[in-house]
Amino acid sequence: MLPPKRLTVTQWAEANRVVSSERTAKPGPFRAWAFQREPMDVMSPHDPAEFMVLMCASQMLKTTALENAIGCYIDQDPGPILLIQPRETDAEEFSKQSIDPMFRDAESLRRKVIEKKSRDSGNTINQKRFHGGSLTILGAQTPENFMMRSIRYALGDEVDRWPRIQKQEGSTVRLFVMRTANYRGCRKVVLASTPTIAGESTIAEWFEDSDQRRFFVPCPDCGVEQALRWDRVKWGESIPPADAHYQCESCENLIPNWRKPWMIERGRWIKGNPGSKIAGFHLSRLYSLITPWGDLAEEFLAAKDNPAELQAFVNTKLAEVWQHKGDAPDWEVIASRAEDYKQGTAPYGVLFLCAGVDIQKDRIEVRVGGWGRGKQRWLVDYRVIWGDTSRRNSEAWTGLQAMLSESWPHESGADLMIVRMAIDTGDPTSQTNAYDFCKANAGKCLAIKGQPSGVNLLNMPQTSEASARRKKRGGLLLWGVNVSLAKQELYGQLRMAKPEGDEFPPGWFHHYREQDEWYKQLTAERLVVAKGKRGYDEQTWQKTGRNEALDCTNYDRAAAEHVGVSKFGPPEWNRFERNLNPLPNPTRGKPVKQRFENPADVAVKNKRRYGNVGRAAI
Ligand SMILES: [Zn+2]
Repeated sequence: MLPPKRLTVTQWAEANRVVSSERTAKPGPFRAWAFQREPMDVMSPHDPAEFMVLMCASQMLKTTALENAIGCYIDQDPGPILLIQPRETDAEEFSKQSIDPMFRDAESLRRKVIEKKSRDSGNTINQKRFHGGSLTILGAQTPENFMMRSIRYALGDEVDRWPRIQKQEGSTVRLFVMRTANYRGCRKVVLASTPTIAGESTIAEWFEDSDQRRFFVPCPDCGVEQALRWDRVKWGESIPPADAHYQCESCENLIPNWRKPWMIERGRWIKGNPGSKIAGFHLSRLYSLITPWGDLAEEFLAAKDNPAELQAFVNTKLAEVWQHKGDAPDWEVIASRAEDYKQGTAPYGVLFLCAGVDIQKDRIEVRVGGWGRGKQRWLVDYRVIWGDTSRRNSEAWTGLQAMLSESWPHESGADLMIVRMAIDTGDPTSQTNAYDFCKANAGKCLAIKGQPSGVNLLNMPQTSEASARRKKRGGLLLWGVNVSLAKQELYGQLRMAKPEGDEFPPGWFHHYREQDEWYKQLTAERLVVAKGKRGYDEQTWQKTGRNEALDCTNYDRAAAEHVGVSKFGPPEWNRFERNLNPLPNPTRGKPVKQRFENPADVAVKNKRRYGNVGRAAI
């Protein structure tokens, strides 16, 4: 006659759940990690918190907590449960991978779930019926599916990946939360996700409003409790990245990874904003008992030069929002770093030349850029060719044509020609002429258009592009350049600290002393967060003045990407270098000036020799 014992989600899971061999290398009874206990306890049906937010790294807490909560609700305090995943396919996968094995393996649940009968099938993939309620798992793509339901347990997974816009009615997440109004006082709303971009992240907004709990662990040396932060993971000369240590913020001792389990076991959650009624938890991969700090350090090093990969690292491993680094560096600082070489010459280090071309009504601006190992880049030449670009044979176009057969002296004595020229075809008055120019110089010239987004820096021409439009251009392919990504990369390079010795870091931006105006143009844009057309915060680049120098720099980058600069390894660079070194002439005993082999031809030969490397080869 005794009422059933009230178990928290953690207690229920440890008493009832078995982790099957499909999920883990160590199958057996479920045992929660120290940092998983409190979040799961707050999810318990009798805990007073109605709202909770899990902003956490992947594979730390989210899926396990949601599964255990569902099991506990069905067993302890049943009611209608709705779990929303970003897409229908995610919902199906969660149902098959998480829910079905749990029902199969937990004895207490097997008795309560209403068995599937051949005729009256209450259990389909997305809906499970049990005594006292039902569990529905849906995708967020069609919110109409869950608009009409009244629910007690509302679980939202990966909410930052849900569609954001819902005509007049507010965000999908708000609509989802409103479904629980009938159960005020005994409802549970759980929102879980890895975060996305600052100003756009739903989970980060909710976490901001929550009581902001972070997991504090004691230092094994001095005992001071601290929340683990990425900037305290250290490696260096004596410690390779693979063996990265954690530096205590109090005693500054370096803590090796093997002491982590001891620290985690003694950790506790501490609120950063105790006034809030929303329970919020933040958890990064730094706490993982499976991933050592060294693995994260290596992942970081592999991703740090690519903004898109670095964003994924920050979002899914550190569980932090991604801040676009959009502040333009100070032009005077950059100007002061000008190097001692003359305009129109290519210093040692330059291994091939590209060009970026911006077309205006009355002139064409061209940057000739040199490229070398580690994607270091040099400003080799910058020209403004005056002339009416709307006239086909004006001085502007003939001047540009001449540059394609011109050569620039390299410090080694060789002569370099432009390998690839990227031409912006966005200006409407000169567009037809730009297309014609690219067609006439096919193979060397690349017609491009700027795009605000895109997966890569240089995006393949759309083959499905309206054929009529393409016909108009006479079959010319138009490459998309993600200018936002290019600007982020460039400003990251410009913000790098000047190195001590003669060695320059990868991506270093070399330049001879240009005019002040050129530096001002290079730093003429900044990234701002502003209310977009739809009323949400959006990140956009804003001009603060003329910006042709910046555009040309980015188009030069696009041309180098087309040649394959991102994919070149030591064999390609060595090959470029061999072509530059003049061989001693035995008859005369002094170096002979050799014509530099066109790197595009080199790339084709390399393809034969090394396989498919570099876009130029394709
Ligand atoms: Zn310490």
